[in-house]
Parts: sequence; structure tokens; C-alpha cells
Amino acid sequence: MLLRSQAPIATAPLVSGELALPDPGPGELRVRVRACATCRTDLHVIEGDLPPRRLPLVPGHQVVGTVEAPGPGATRFRTGDRVGIAWLRSTCGACRYCRAGRENLCESSTHTGWTHDGGYAEYCCVPEAFAYAIPPGFDDAEATPLLCAGIIGYRALLRSRVPRGGRLGLYGFGSSAHITLQVARSWGCAVHVLTREPARQRLAVSLGAAWAGAPGDALPGALDAAIVFAPVGGLVPVALRAVDKGGTVALAGIHMSDMPAMAYEPHLFWEKTLRSVTANTRADGEALLAEAAAIPIRPRVTRYPLSDANRALVDIKTSDVEATAVLMID
Ligand SMILES: [Zn+2]
Ligand SMILES: [Zn+2]
Repeated sequence: MLLRSQAPIATAPLVSGELALPDPGPGELRVRVRACATCRTDLHVIEGDLPPRRLPLVPGHQVVGTVEAPGPGATRFRTGDRVGIAWLRSTCGACRYCRAGRENLCESSTHTGWTHDGGYAEYCCVPEAFAYAIPPGFDDAEATPLLCAGIIGYRALLRSRVPRGGRLGLYGFGSSAHITLQVARSWGCAVHVLTREPARQRLAVSLGAAWAGAPGDALPGALDAAIVFAPVGGLVPVALRAVDKGGTVALAGIHMSDMPAMAYEPHLFWEKTLRSVTANTRADGEALLAEAAAIPIRPRVTRYPLSDANRALVDIKTSDVEATAVLMID
């Protein structure tokens, strides 16, 4: 499914097309794609919230498939191994961020489904160093949302500095938050979910949320930490007010509408901390996959045929899908 020019998803900008079989370069793998989850970032790429880096483009960066052809010098995986491909496709390894172990901030990183073709296709290539072994407990579709929604939520959870057993707030409840909730529950946290959608509130409670309501509702008490998943700047002061003295708010999105002006005393004084989350390191990905398998996390997925990619993306935009819309490739 190809994006030829950025446009609103309601206009069905993804069209099916035939491309040559991609050749894996040195150190790369050609992967036969089995499933690819959609992500709100795909919408930002498709609709133009993020600048175009390559057109036409195959979107998709939560890819699960099997190694079909290792490229020259690729030895980490064998043909037939099941691997995952995530948003972070390569880093330079040489800039000051990479050298400091902060490759998520690399100045010349590349990205699956943005700078390079992604997984809304039968085949996708990835540098083997940036592929993940998929734990056996997940089927192909279930494993896909771990690769961005799961990893980014996990980094956001770490960045929120919520203590084990602490009170955590999640603003917005989609694919990423529904996995993060399950990790936080395994840490003994009382999770409070704030979303306007009644169906999402019910899903949150069914997954073990201590409380669920709308963003304007009064919480049962102050939070130790909060994560804002919704790309809505207006939620930032709401979350900052809701955290206790010394609390932290982490912003998990790659794109957010403007934040309103904030007053110092209720929002940031009392040593409150506001942090953003930018992509992830490979270490975050490995840690999330290991923890997800051990808990185990049960991602909720709704399957769509690849040819229905436009419909799947409309559904995540309008919250018409339970948690994660996954494209299945036959
Ligand atoms: Zn770098
Ligand atoms: Zn994503």
C-alpha cells in the first residue's frame, strides 16, 4: 500500500501498487511480512503532520515477519526466523548521542515507514542490528503492537519515574496505553485511565485499571506520575495539575497540538517535572519484549486485510477500533 502524496486519511491516500522485490543490502535482512500494526505516527506521516522524507512511501513500522533472505554479511538471524521491525531503523553510532548510549536522539537516524519503506507490504528490508527476535508466546498479529506502541509506552513509563506500587495516570487510551497499563499493573501500580470514550474506559477497567473516567473528571486522589498519550496539548496542564508534589508527567507522542499557557504555581511549582519521550533505544525494545513475554502482556488486536489499510487508519483516528488495528499480509 503506497502513499504517493500526503493527504487526509478520509480521502484514502493509500493505493495498492506493485514494487520490485527489495534487495537486502550488506548487513540487512529481507523479511516476508506477516502482520503490520497501524500507529498514530503512520497517520502523522500520511496526513502531513510530519514532513515527507520519501515519496512514494510504503508506511508501517510495527512489522512482524520471517527472515526470507539475509543480505551480504548478515549472520545474526537465519532464514525462517521470526523477527520484528520497529520505527528506529538505523543510527550513526558516531554522534555524541550515540556514543553516550542515547541513540534515540541520534542526529542522523533513519526510520521505517518514513525515511525507508515499511511494512504495509509483502516484503520489507531492515538492518539486522535493528531487528528484534520475537518471543514465541505471541502470534504474529499480537506481537506487532509491542514494536512501537509497547516500546514507546515502556520508555514513557520509565521516563514517568512512577514508583513500583505508585499511582499512575494515563491520558488517552489506545494501543500504546493498553500495553503500558499491563506493564504498570505488573509493577503493582494503581492505574488511572482518562479518556472520553466509554468503550475505552470499560477496556481499561477490564485490563485492571483502578479507576477510569473522562479527562475533566475528579480523580480519587493525586497521582505520583502521569503519561499523556493523546496528541492533545490541552491535556498537559490537566495532567500537571493532577500529579502530586514532586510528580512527573511524561509526554509519549511524536506530535502534539500546541500547549496552552500555564500558570507556574499549580502546574510546575512544588518540583513537578515535565518530560517528553523521543523514540527509543534498542535496549528499550529488548527490555520491553522480554518483560512482555514474562508477564505476559496480552495485546488486543483487530485484524484487517492489507488492502483495507485506509479503513484501519480511519478507525484508529476515530477510535472505532478496540486497541490496535493490525494489517494481515497473506
Ligand atoms: Zn548517532
Ligand atoms: Zn508507532
